[in-house]
Amino acid sequence: MTFVHTALGREVVCPSCAETQDMVTSVGDARVTPRLDDFLVCFNCGAINRFTAQGSLRPTGERDLDDLDPTQRDMIRKMSCVASDRRRREGN
Ligand SMILES: [Zn+2]
Repeated sequence: MTFVHTALGREVVCPSCAETQDMVTSVGDARVTPRLDDFLVCFNCGAINRFTAQGSLRPTGERDLDDLDPTQRDMIRKMSCVASDRRRREGN
């Protein structure tokens, strides 16, 4: 499995923690430009967000994850848990 980091060229704000992010990480071999409804896990708080048509982020609910295949869903959940566990350990 390969992870590819891509600069957004702008900042997006996590709706859960207000952390700004200017990079996305995707699984695969190519750089990507996020599109409507693509997922982004906040590496600060672990929130699972989706890109809106305007390019900002919105929080997701459990039903959003139904759009993913089981492998993708598990990966997103694991990434979210890693980030939220790290934040809890660091006391932020
Ligand atoms: Zn966040």
